[in-house]
Amino acid sequence: MTVSATPTSSDTSIQGILARQQLDAGREAWKQRLQRVTTGDVEAAIASRPGSYSLPKLLALVSPAAESYLEQMAELSRRLTLQRFGRTIRLYAPLYLSSHCVNRCQYCGFNTDNKFDRVRLSIEEALAEAELIAHEGFRDILLVTSEDRKFITVPYLTELARALRGKFSFISAEIYQMTAADYRRLFDAGIEGITLYQETYDRSTYAQYHLGGPKANYDMRLRGPDDFASAGMREIGLGALLGLAAWRIETLALGEHAFSLFKRYWQSRISFSFPRIRPAYGVPPEAFPHLVTDKNLVQMMLALRLCFADAGLVLSTREPAQLRDRFVQLGITKMSAGSRTSPGGYSQGDKDAGQFKVNDERSPANVVAMLKDQGLEPVWKDWDRAFLSV
Ligand code: SF4
Repeated sequence: MTVSATPTSSDTSIQGILARQQLDAGREAWKQRLQRVTTGDVEAAIASRPGSYSLPKLLALVSPAAESYLEQMAELSRRLTLQRFGRTIRLYAPLYLSSHCVNRCQYCGFNTDNKFDRVRLSIEEALAEAELIAHEGFRDILLVTSEDRKFITVPYLTELARALRGKFSFISAEIYQMTAADYRRLFDAGIEGITLYQETYDRSTYAQYHLGGPKANYDMRLRGPDDFASAGMREIGLGALLGLAAWRIETLALGEHAFSLFKRYWQSRISFSFPRIRPAYGVPPEAFPHLVTDKNLVQMMLALRLCFADAGLVLSTREPAQLRDRFVQLGITKMSAGSRTSPGGYSQGDKDAGQFKVNDERSPANVVAMLKDQGLEPVWKDWDRAFLSV
């Protein structure tokens, strides 16, 4: 297990902050603090300036005591989101590029130990998939790849991004970790947002689920968002994989991570995603001890919204249609639709070994109709690089 150096009070790195707060290890004290939160603490947190962050406030909002205040929190979250984002929901689609991976993440169907026919898309094949995505109306695309550095190289990604720029107004990526210099090359080619999940902020849990490959290095992973934020990315995507460790404490670590980035890269937008463990090839969900219920998930989203007024809240098709339909009124700002989670999935359909099993299988048109029925405005495009050249 990698152990960080003893933190000093002047260490402002995220490693230093998490270690000082004991959010990366030895979390017993936090379990007790959560139990000690009173209804008075929750009411004070709800009465504080909406959208402002402090760790004690987030602690109160994710505590068991706050479960009796979800209605109030939902109303505040709805109002705050309306003020900051209007009645809009941005729509995006993921484009999977490769299912080859060198890592051994125990929760993922693409884990290198799994035996199945893996696929890589050539640039031409990726563009053909993107054409199908654009045909549905999407102008916001998320490039997704496993850790396949031999094939999905930086030149591959920059060439693909340049070819996509004419069709898509926003290109982001969920890719293996790179250096700040490489992130800068992606940014220059037109990729303007990166999402990198820490998966879990608890060091020992991280070691338990990451058994091999470059991603097994907790500290290196934690540095990633600083590297892509400093490369100029407009959108900084964060998240923990829900199901690996106790969600209330993971949310506290996530809040500290977001706040430390927000202070330094205020010109970028922080986005939170809420991936819950889903069944995947070789991955039974009952193998995970910290599964997150719908009620827990709502509380986590509301708590983060009440602490981060301008954060994007992203919901993928991992979640079932019925739940997504309710969540869009509570603070969600961006969602995927019609997703395929294997390379070539838009032209050939998802094979059994997608990265995870999609839960909301509705077409983009059906998702758009649902949003309109609820009085929301689906947005295919809310940004154009041309805005920068005035
Ligand atoms: S989570 Fe990502 S890095 Fe880990 S095995 Fe899956 S595709 Fe590879």
